[in-house]
Amino acid sequence: MRTVIVGGSLVGLTAAASLQLNGDEVTVLEQAPEVRAAGAGIGLWPNALREFDRIGIGATVRALGSRIDTWFHDADGRRIRAAGSAASDHRFLLVPRPALNSLLADTVGRDRIRTGARATGYTEDGPEVVVHLADGTDLRADLLIGADGVYSRTRAQLVPGSEAVAHDGHYAWRALVPAGDERPEGTVLTVGRDRTRGGYARVTEGRTMWMVNQFDAGPLTGGKRDRALARARNLAGAGWHDDLLRMIAETPEEAVLENQIMVVPPLDRWTSPRVALIGDAAHGLSPHISAGGTLGVEDAGVLRAALAAGPDTRTALARYEAARTARFTEVRAHAAAVEQAVGAREFAERYAAFSHWMLTTAPAG
Ligand SMILES: Cc1cc2nc3c(=O)[nH]c(=O)nc-3n(C[C@H](O)[C@H](O)[C@H](O)COP(=O)(O)OP(=O)(O)OC[C@H]3O[C@@H](n4cnc5c(N)ncnc54)[C@H](O)[C@@H]3O)c2cc1C
Repeated sequence: MRTVIVGGSLVGLTAAASLQLNGDEVTVLEQAPEVRAAGAGIGLWPNALREFDRIGIGATVRALGSRIDTWFHDADGRRIRAAGSAASDHRFLLVPRPALNSLLADTVGRDRIRTGARATGYTEDGPEVVVHLADGTDLRADLLIGADGVYSRTRAQLVPGSEAVAHDGHYAWRALVPAGDERPEGTVLTVGRDRTRGGYARVTEGRTMWMVNQFDAGPLTGGKRDRALARARNLAGAGWHDDLLRMIAETPEEAVLENQIMVVPPLDRWTSPRVALIGDAAHGLSPHISAGGTLGVEDAGVLRAALAAGPDTRTALARYEAARTARFTEVRAHAAAVEQAVGAREFAERYAAFSHWMLTTAPAG
């Protein structure tokens, strides 16, 4: 099967490698001049690692990252876990994003990835789909996969009126910095005052990632680092998190990533007979559940399995859509509950419930 994937980042590249297992002839279109990954580190759950095992890179991904045993804290540094939750509900792997994307690109084969290639739309033409590129050329395929992120062109055409919307007042700041003398096991996540959440974790031996998330951020003044620092003080009651404040204060301004969080509204369709959405293009979520990437990798596995089972593309895509929209109804309910949690204890309970649900209901692929 000739498959064109729009978007050469985490989910598009994973889908490409997964569909190569089915014997697909895959072409990835990436608008950027090179495969790259915005961002610092990404927390991956075992659900994603299983698909990486299947495409043969699980061991390398595990070696790239570091295993995090999550502890939550309140603003005064008290460690909190939900009563009755299992240790496995708190484990994930933190991986540097650029290294992960590079590994995925090598796995797919660089010759299968066309960089500097921007898709502008498509036409479904009987048993084929014609993908239109900004340079005026077309590509004919049997299947088009839109893995083109929250601002997806593919989604705009498949589901008109589905533009990503700002998650009101929600900002995230983060940076990857040289590891210093901070606690190497990390603080991972502090649920602070005024709806601020953040902390830091060691991504690799020599690199630490700090992050600050703020709901209802209010007016943004000053530079990116100062904006992050102002919110991080909500995490550092009684001086317990001075190392986080120091880490942020010492980060060069240009190394600080700042995002207004954008989300994709629930869609009434993810597919048509020859087109499927996957990853953030289908379900861009607020990152406060740290799960969008893992769920996108799950999408790739479910799509691979559905297409392998046949009997034809249309039926397989309908099966993929039914499975994933059902899962995302639950994800969105958990995400809302975690977002609305008041205080660190309630947060820990709701996050553990989400995590347990994620792990125990993961698709078999
Ligand atoms: C602050 C923050 C923290 C997060 N933390 C976590 C975490 O810890 N764990 C987790 O699982 N998830 C996390 N997420 C979510 C995760 O980052 C995303 O779900 C994931 O990166 C989505 O990957 P994607 O490949 O679907 O989309 P993207 O990474 O957005 O990639 C889309 C690609 O498509 C390309 N593209 C777009 N349009 C076109 C076009 N027309 N033609 C060609 N190419 C195009 C883009 O250039 C880009 O390369 C976090 C998100 C944020 C914002």
